[in-house]
Order: sequence, then structure tokens, then C-alpha cells
Amino acid sequence: MKCLICKQKNFARVSERIREGKRNVFQCQGCGFVFLEPIKDSVDYTKDYGAKLFDDSWDLDAAMKARAESLKKTIDDIDQELMQTPGLRCLEIGAGVGASVYGLKQKNNNYAVDVIEPNAKLKDHLTSVFDPINVYTSFSDIKKTYNAIYGIHVFEHFLKPYEQLAIIEKCAAPKARLYLQFPNWDDYYLSTLEGTSLRNYIEFMLHTAHDYYYSIKNIERLFKQTNWDIVKIWTMQDYSIANYYHWIFCGQPMKNIAVATEMGHELREVNNVFHKALEQSSQGNNLCCLLQRKD
Ligand SMILES: [Zn+2]
Repeated sequence: MKCLICKQKNFARVSERIREGKRNVFQCQGCGFVFLEPIKDSVDYTKDYGAKLFDDSWDLDAAMKARAESLKKTIDDIDQELMQTPGLRCLEIGAGVGASVYGLKQKNNNYAVDVIEPNAKLKDHLTSVFDPINVYTSFSDIKKTYNAIYGIHVFEHFLKPYEQLAIIEKCAAPKARLYLQFPNWDDYYLSTLEGTSLRNYIEFMLHTAHDYYYSIKNIERLFKQTNWDIVKIWTMQDYSIANYYHWIFCGQPMKNIAVATEMGHELREVNNVFHKALEQSSQGNNLCCLLQRKD
């Protein structure tokens, strides 16, 4: 077995367990890349992740609005880094309930974003809420090019990241910008939590839908082996300071991501300082990558 990124063959085991139970997790000693031990029946979650997340009890409209609220900082970044592109033709990979499209349209109702979403039920929801919109079920359906493309928490699902970046390139115009956001393995929690809290946080972070866990150092190296130039890479913290103390004192995750990212007004200032400090030291819990297609 060779590291997917640096091709070295030395690995250390970082865990014997993930969220769902027993599974070995290894880290490359060359570049720090973390991955679940490959198994034969590894599920390709890019096919239809929605079917695994949502059932009929979900109120898609409420889920969209709640998720847009917890994605506020990400939506601000996308607005700034992509939506100002001249002659904007924007595509989202893996739109889910449509939270980011909804958030962007709240900023500017003239923004037009086409999306890829394989799940049939979500496709119906997206089509009815955002008409007119092109909702593709896969890359192979796309017959035009886009000059702004983004994916929020989709890249970590790709079992073949190099091949996937080449597929994205096919629907990207020359000099197109690509924004990808996914979990940061080198986050503040991992470097500061201790004992049971640290063990539980690692197990919570590792789960079957994510085979790979990246950090700034190795993701730069991965992108350098593709046809995408790095414009910039930074980290973004969205879990609140209350969530951090919850891990320290309770040693377990909060109820859901909405609770883990919200903050009452009385602590908003200290929460902003917490976020800024972590982001300045590149220890935010999300990696944000802005890339540009080479010609
Ligand atoms: Zn490596």
C-alpha cells in the first residue's frame, strides 16, 4: 500500500474505531494524510448521499433554512470569492437540500446557481424552490461549462480525488474558479482535547462516509498533482466556543450541527474572538480551498 498523496509506505494507526464501530484508521508518516483502512465493499457516497441522510419525515424547506443559517460564514466566502466573477455561470456540486443556493439568493436574488444532486426527492425540491435552475444528477449530464464551481463537504466523499478533479475540469471554463470546503484534520480540537474527550472526538470525526481526512500540508501536495492551481487555502471555524467546552466537559458531540454552530447574543463576542484566533493559526475545523483551472 502506497500513500495516495506522497507515495510513501510508512503508516501509523491513529484509531481502531470510527463512529459506526470497529475499523482501523491510518496516518501516512510522510505527509500526515489520514484514511480509513480500505475495505472491499466501500460505499461510493457520491452516488446518492441524500438517500442515506434524509427520510420522508424531513421537512426539506425547514432543513434548507436551518442549514443555510449554520453555513452563514461559508456562504459569505462563496459570495466574495466566486459570485463576483464576470459573466458568472455557477455550479454547485452536491447541493443537498439547497441551503447554500438559498443563502446566496438571500444576498442577491439575481444570483443563478445550477446544481448537481443525485437524489430524486431532493432534485424535485430544488427544482420547485429555485425555478429556473438546472439540476443535474451527475457530471455526465452537463453539456456546458461553468466559470465558478463549488462543493461544500463533498470532496472528502470522493474515493478517487485525482480522477474527480479531472471530471470537474471537464465542465470548467478556462481559468474557472473552484471552491472546495471539507473537514480539517489538523484542527484546534485535535491538538488541545485530552483523554476521553480526545478519543471520543476522533471517533466522532471518523466515519464511514469519509474515507479520507486532509490537512493543509497534504492537500496542497495533492492539488499540485492536478490541473488546478492553488489560489489560496485557509481554515474556517464554524463550531462554537460552547461546542468546544461541551467536548471538554461532556466528552461528546452536541445534539446536531445547528446547535453546535449557534451562539446566543451574550457570548457572540467571545465566540467571534475564538473563531478568529483559531483561523489565524490555521486550526479552524474546515479547510477552504480556492483553486483555478490551469489552461
Ligand atoms: Zn503521504
